[in-house]
Amino acid sequence: MQHQNTLAYAQELDNKDELKSFRGKFHIPQHNGSDMVYFTGNSLGLQPVTTESYIQQELNDWKQFGVEGHFLAKNPWFSYHEILTEQSAKLVGGLPSEVVMMNQLTVNLHLLMVSFYRPTKQRYKILCEAKAFPSDQYALQTQAQFHGFAPDDAIIEVEPRAGEYAIRSEDILAAIEKHKDELALVMFSGVNYFTGQVFDMKTITANAQKHGIVVGFDLAHATGNIDLHLHEWGVDFACWCSYKYLNSGPGSVAGAFVHEKHHKNISLPIFAGWWGTDKTSRFKMEKTFVPIHGAERWQLSNAPILSMAACKAALDVITEAGFEKMRKKSALLLSYLEFLVTEINTTQPEGKKFEFLTPKEDSVYVPKGIQPGCQFSIIAHGRGKELFNALVKEGVVPDWREPNVIRLAPVPLYNSFEDLYKFYVILKELTQ
Ligand SMILES: *Cc1c(COP(=O)(O)O)cnc(C)c1O
Repeated sequence: MQHQNTLAYAQELDNKDELKSFRGKFHIPQHNGSDMVYFTGNSLGLQPVTTESYIQQELNDWKQFGVEGHFLAKNPWFSYHEILTEQSAKLVGGLPSEVVMMNQLTVNLHLLMVSFYRPTKQRYKILCEAKAFPSDQYALQTQAQFHGFAPDDAIIEVEPRAGEYAIRSEDILAAIEKHKDELALVMFSGVNYFTGQVFDMKTITANAQKHGIVVGFDLAHATGNIDLHLHEWGVDFACWCSYKYLNSGPGSVAGAFVHEKHHKNISLPIFAGWWGTDKTSRFKMEKTFVPIHGAERWQLSNAPILSMAACKAALDVITEAGFEKMRKKSALLLSYLEFLVTEINTTQPEGKKFEFLTPKEDSVYVPKGIQPGCQFSIIAHGRGKELFNALVKEGVVPDWREPNVIRLAPVPLYNSFEDLYKFYVILKELTQ
């Protein structure tokens, strides 16, 4: 498709957009009386218009029923988390029994590592990407320490090659091969939060597991963004949050996946709570923990209903839109954004051209067939935070990472092609 850098063309793309009406289903933050150009759905997704009524329903039931709401509420709180399972499972490509929404992301990572990071004297190392999200780094470090290992020794990071930003697929596989006898766990993100690189989870999983290494993924930037097939890939465990691409509100309830092959293994160590014990005997308040056969075994506490209501509202919007349509639009948004930035580059002097940091499909970083997500990171060479500040002043909300990286995430549910065009005009003006 031959794109054009005109408002009329951007509006034409919007008119043809199958998901066009979904923008109206979200509250778009305002700047000087008009819609902000919001590109940080990868950090905090926007609020669906329906969220308020979903939460209000639970507030009303609490008002009316008090504790009896656990059973008498329209959506009984006792089993509320179950209404999130099917839609969440679909997004990660898991069976419903493999998925549960509970706690928060880093909490889930720790809980799952209790079960799936089982170091021995010979096999105790963890392979991960360099510059993983800090919370994940802290989790890995302290898990290693908890088992008596020094993080510097126990954690092996796969780095980009000198002068490169993303990690080559072959380097990940080579690292697995090199350390195969000492690795207890391979733990990567699905999409790196900084570069936007999508990792080849299927191949990483297969290559690690053939040496008996457990594989887990942090899908914070992947769920609701890229295609996932956790069950089919045989991934051992995964966790994600719901406030980024799932639009469930700040700090909302997170997700966890445990592959079916582990469900009957009752010898797995876990940190248990009453929400993980058999549902039929839970309220007998007995001493014996009877593990649920499924991801729900890892639940600790009764569910946070208000944030789950927000999560349900958001999942219903995604279901209504259809994830395949979202993926299709996402690819078109990305291609238009790339076109517009390339167009700006034609007027930039050497040393000030914008460079694409996010690696493309069918490259040494991302094998063919693995489609990118929404995120597009660019390096603003020769510029500093003043560019970011100027964008914000004009009503654009990107994300800035020192020293000069701008992360943009045009998301298919509520970003428009006109958003991209507006961004183009503003960026062009600021860089003339
Ligand atoms: C957003 C994000 C987190 C945040 O963790 P919380 O426990 O939700 O605060 C952790 N890891 C990754 C990879 C993230 O992208």
